[in-house]
Amino acid sequence: MPISKPPAGAPAVVSTLTVDLDAIAGNYRLLRERAAPAGCAAVVKADGYGLGAGPVARRLWREGCRTFFVASLEEAAALRAVLPDADIVALNGLLPGEAKTYREHRLLPTLNDLGQIDDWAAFCRDGDPLPACVHIDTGMSRLGLSRRERAELVSDPHRLSGFDCRYVLSHLACADTPDHPLNLQQQSLFAETIAALPTMPASLAASSGIFLGADWHFDLVRAGIALYGGAPTAGADNPMANVVRLDGVVLQVRDVDSPETVGYGATHRFAGPARVATVAAGYADGYLRSLSGRGAAYWGKTALPLIGRVSMDLITLDATAAPGLTAGDTVELIGPHHDINVLAEDADTIPYEILTSLGRRYRRRYEGLDA
Ligand SMILES: *Cc1c(COP(=O)(O)O)cnc(C)c1O
Repeated sequence: MPISKPPAGAPAVVSTLTVDLDAIAGNYRLLRERAAPAGCAAVVKADGYGLGAGPVARRLWREGCRTFFVASLEEAAALRAVLPDADIVALNGLLPGEAKTYREHRLLPTLNDLGQIDDWAAFCRDGDPLPACVHIDTGMSRLGLSRRERAELVSDPHRLSGFDCRYVLSHLACADTPDHPLNLQQQSLFAETIAALPTMPASLAASSGIFLGADWHFDLVRAGIALYGGAPTAGADNPMANVVRLDGVVLQVRDVDSPETVGYGATHRFAGPARVATVAAGYADGYLRSLSGRGAAYWGKTALPLIGRVSMDLITLDATAAPGLTAGDTVELIGPHHDINVLAEDADTIPYEILTSLGRRYRRRYEGLDA
């Protein structure tokens, strides 16, 4: 994946996104220890949750991760170019015409209904039994074999014998809420289903499920958001390290006085003398518009409240508390003082959306790329 660079010879006055690959590796080790003796796979769909599937996957491979999940066949084929020897699973399913590409790149499809199971078995009939995962729905009603199909498969498990079934998997709906009754219901239904099928490795938990306990681990967990610093359990302390730092460049600092207003819609009116810092990040960069009047940035340890609306390319901060701040300085928009979980709360969303929205205009830097 290309890392964007400033034009040769030009000073780098641009907001910068720094991804700490060593922190991702540390999070991976923590999750792997929590999940042991189950294995720990990495989920790097949506370009590694927006942080760059290539650098993230390479770093995790170096850390010992051998199984990677992505959403689409396209993502899987792109990852194959980065990781020649990993097991790469695409979750979206085996769609018409895709089987040859799966075989060509040695990728594992996730078979999401009986038709896909039979199609993969038929495709394997004239050659080697190729690997795949089978997804059993236990409460998401999204992808995977439905209740009726699950019963049909249990009564005719021979349908799995035409290929190499590496994992049977399912996905939890409410794992970030440990007390939710669906967690135990899905766990029981999954355990019951795999007991009725030929013996094969099983995988249920994603990031949050790892923290529900050993009964949810089975043979392989699939860690996504927690690798990238997302809090696995709602309302509990976050054991994951922060991975992302976004430093926004201050383009201008101005003194204002009442009755001036700031930004579109004149939503913020000054009550007295103040300083405004204008920073190069906006909703076109994934700095969500729902942060209007709600976000904050940090100048060292000093919080600078976001005032007015987020516009396409710019945000405005109340910099009254930062008298030394000048144009060309940077402020922390995401980082140790204001991580993706806090920002997500400010924006009324989840850290997954914060990360996958991060824009392409930021200069991207990776720490820990080569060891
Ligand atoms: C996205 C996804 C994961 C990873 O989920 P996180 O909550 O990010 O850990 C695991 N399994 C499936 C099926 C997914 O779609």
